[in-house]
Amino acid sequence: MRNTPDVIVVGAGAAGASVAYELIKRGVSVTMIERDSVASHASGFAYGGLFPTMGAGIPGPALQHAKRGISLHKRLAPELEDHTGIDIELRAVRSIDLAVDEVGYKKLQESLAWQAEEDLEADLLDIEGVRSEEPSLTGDLTGGLVQRSHFEVDSYKYTLALVTAFERAGGAHVPGNVVGLLRDGERVTGVRLGNGSEIPGGSVVLATGPWSGDGSEGLPHFPVKPRKGEILRLRFPGRDFVHRVSLGGHYIARKSDGLVWGGSTEEDAGFDDRPTSAARDSIMAGILALAPSLESAEIVQHTACLRPVSSDGMPILGALPGYDGLFAANGAGKKGILLSPVMGRMVAGAITGQVGRDAIPVEFAASRFSYV
Ligand SMILES: Cc1cc2nc3c(=O)[nH]c(=O)nc-3n(C[C@H](O)[C@H](O)[C@H](O)COP(=O)(O)OP(=O)(O)OC[C@H]3O[C@@H](n4cnc5c(N)ncnc54)[C@H](O)[C@@H]3O)c2cc1C
Repeated sequence: MRNTPDVIVVGAGAAGASVAYELIKRGVSVTMIERDSVASHASGFAYGGLFPTMGAGIPGPALQHAKRGISLHKRLAPELEDHTGIDIELRAVRSIDLAVDEVGYKKLQESLAWQAEEDLEADLLDIEGVRSEEPSLTGDLTGGLVQRSHFEVDSYKYTLALVTAFERAGGAHVPGNVVGLLRDGERVTGVRLGNGSEIPGGSVVLATGPWSGDGSEGLPHFPVKPRKGEILRLRFPGRDFVHRVSLGGHYIARKSDGLVWGGSTEEDAGFDDRPTSAARDSIMAGILALAPSLESAEIVQHTACLRPVSSDGMPILGALPGYDGLFAANGAGKKGILLSPVMGRMVAGAITGQVGRDAIPVEFAASRFSYV
């Protein structure tokens, strides 16, 4: 490692790992700084869905980036396995969005219509069709929409593979809590750590997730808030739930680890990321209403973590106004695993000037906000 890296990336979640990996591939010297461990927050405990059909800005400006996210994940999976031996478990998943009344069924029809225009494969099922796909489902269903454009990964293995590939390519990963910026006027010249040490760098990328909005002195305050989400992992032997079924905020899916995952919650709880019994009960109530047979399932893991949600729901990428040499990779909310390869390329391109087709679109540009 050179003494002064060209770029310092703060945060080893999916966003920071992707930026660091894309930079090192472009021949840039990078030091990544993380205060906990790789993927120890949302990036390690997300569901890992690559779903281009839902979420902030979909249908809308985020859709084309979500589609590109999937094609980049397809390219990355073998590339990362080659470099690291880590299988990120990318696989196609068939999701069924369920409806329990006519209003819900009409929404599925509307969703089918716009997805067809976007070449996203989907089919409507009536109630018999849904039950023949997933016999364990009960309740007063009126139908379902099978989505064939969905994929998923193991988000922990994905983030770990990015950091491992980054390190094998010569990137440095050091522990540290960044508490301030080194500056020469408007120019950012490095970071200051909580232990008082300083790391100089040509540019700095803040990929610090929801903590970018925690008001820490010494770092710019992003318009990002934590939105807590909890997931249960259940042991439930059998072949049910090979489709990911969802209704409202609840879903049931058998992941590649063989466990049935039940999710999830959305809560504004500040920076408290401890699992709660209230969230566990609410998830269980939601999934049991769909599939009472899960009553006999054993809860083997209960996770909670914080999504970084920006004030307009879109990622915050690229140069920060008012700071020369300071960049953001943040704010992807519920889509940070899907969008991270796009974010990595866009931010790496903004730093190196090698933009190609990955220019940061106005709706993602950090320059749409001001920072203090
Ligand atoms: C329940 C749940 C389910 C989800 N499911 C999906 C899904 O299916 N698909 C999808 O695409 N997305 C999903 N997401 C969203 C996704 O997990 C996030 O968008 C993504 O992980 C955010 O990545 P990040 O790198 O921005 O943040 P993080 O993963 O939070 O990483 C930020 C890192 O920065 C470090 N850090 C912060 N401040 C400092 C500092 N000052 N100094 C040093 N290090 C610092 C932190 O320790 C942390 O490791 C889900 C999220 C949740 C909560």
